[in-house]
Amino acid sequence: MKKVQQLFQSEDGNTSQREVILNHIEKILTTMDELKDPNKTILGEKRSRSPLFYQELMEQHTVPEIGSSLDTVVEDLVELMEGHPYHTHNFVTNVLPMASVPGVLGSLTNSLLNGNNLWDVYGPAAAECEVKIISMMSKIVGYDFTKSFGYTTWGGQGAVFSGLRLAIAKQFPHAKEEGVPNNLYCFASENAHYSLLKSIEAVGIGSNHLIRVKAGKDHAMDMEDLQYRLEEVIAKGGIPVYIVATTGTTDSFGIDDMATIKYITMSIEQRYNLKPIHIHADSALGGFYAFFNDYDYASNPLQFEQDVLEGLQQITKRMKNLYLADSLCFDFQKLGQTPYLTSLFLVKDGSSLGLLDLDDFDTPYVGNRGYGTYHTGYTLECSRMGSSIAIFAALTAFGKTGYQTILANYVRVNLAFRKQLTQSNLSFQIVNPENIGPVTAFRFYPAGNAWNKEQNGVMTKAQITSINEMNEKLFEILGENRDQIFFGDTTRVCTVRASDTSELVPIAAAKLFAISPYTEVHHIPAIIESLKLSLSNLEGIHVEV
Ligand SMILES: *Cc1c(COP(=O)(O)O)cnc(C)c1O
Repeated sequence: MKKVQQLFQSEDGNTSQREVILNHIEKILTTMDELKDPNKTILGEKRSRSPLFYQELMEQHTVPEIGSSLDTVVEDLVELMEGHPYHTHNFVTNVLPMASVPGVLGSLTNSLLNGNNLWDVYGPAAAECEVKIISMMSKIVGYDFTKSFGYTTWGGQGAVFSGLRLAIAKQFPHAKEEGVPNNLYCFASENAHYSLLKSIEAVGIGSNHLIRVKAGKDHAMDMEDLQYRLEEVIAKGGIPVYIVATTGTTDSFGIDDMATIKYITMSIEQRYNLKPIHIHADSALGGFYAFFNDYDYASNPLQFEQDVLEGLQQITKRMKNLYLADSLCFDFQKLGQTPYLTSLFLVKDGSSLGLLDLDDFDTPYVGNRGYGTYHTGYTLECSRMGSSIAIFAALTAFGKTGYQTILANYVRVNLAFRKQLTQSNLSFQIVNPENIGPVTAFRFYPAGNAWNKEQNGVMTKAQITSINEMNEKLFEILGENRDQIFFGDTTRVCTVRASDTSELVPIAAAKLFAISPYTEVHHIPAIIESLKLSLSNLEGIHVEV
């Protein structure tokens, strides 16, 4: 038993057991540091994986009869670091951030306490932090913190799902017992995250009842199409229950126009005498730019350059209206600089969570007692990790200006990249020029720029597809070189109309996503140079290097 006890932190706080833990942590940190190279995007050396890699892992691994020493375990752990992606200044792929130190410390504290965020009797630290961060972020978006509420959940996906549960419960409070009616409809931009698709499948509405609203040239939902689609559904006897406004699309940072969506929704509710349609702002990614909502653009205290300032102001114009949404989300593991999984779901009218709550009868061993009042019976999860602790630590350490500084730098880097890419005369065209933010999507044109033509619907499907294929070849080359500079890519940054079909045709594009705290403007020339080199490796393409 003694030997097993050695696998735990001490019972009495003795120094020798503490030192054992500290030594192991020291070893992990030291090894990781030894593997770092700021000019690469991985730790140590690239590891190739044979096609049989995972099969071999299955064949080789069985639970050991006798446990290994912690030294051996730590050896195994640090070996896992070899070849792992790492967020240096060359790490410009998707929104996969480095976890900040306060975030990691918060997570560590949470792991050490190992409270269960299900109930404040079991996880008081997490419950406290949850209430604090709900209020802190409510104030950032302009919710009334005395009315709003929320909880940490399983990703931006979990927030979209929770919003849908609320949407159904608000119109059909008995759907919990009786099931979901078969004429419910949900609406989102064609550029929305696939979270909604999965949620609609999961609640049993059926994915045929997801209405994808056309997006405009700014990659945001087209407001006329939204109105048209809502009316079309109503005319056929359908009931709109849920509209997801993506405020910061994952591939292009298109920001749906919350104010107009709210206006259209309210007028339709009135005209057709409908119950309230729940609007969820999928702000998982972009919501963090609400940190600029009260930035003093006139005096510009952080002294942002003119173009950065204008870019931020353009984002703020839309983010200011986030408070109009019935619910929203902050994926702190994205632009909030905390480790996975730290997402916050916020509801404008917190009392509506009561619609999702379980009866005391159904939760016999937790719940309302004199000694515990905070029981999260309304979440889909039962046990919950205390991710609010990491979020609280990050919010405290960064403060508003810390977040403003890093978020503005993403914009600064993207503006510089766009400018230099355009000046480079490489055959790329930026396909989200109107969307200022942390990401630039750029498309390669083998035979002269055709983005305008593609957007205006004058190209054939075959022509667009052949450009897509060329871009996908480029993705392979960029992917092959990802240990040097790690670009992102997408096979559908948006869709366009073609001249010879009524189908919408997807547009493939490479992406630069500024996400590392270490990427700065002076790194851009080398990034462009590497694009040039990759292009020169594209078969059949002649590029002067
Ligand atoms: C990332 C993202 C999601 C999904 O979030 P997870 O945390 O990965 O579940 C949903 N919506 C948007 C807009 C996103 O950017």
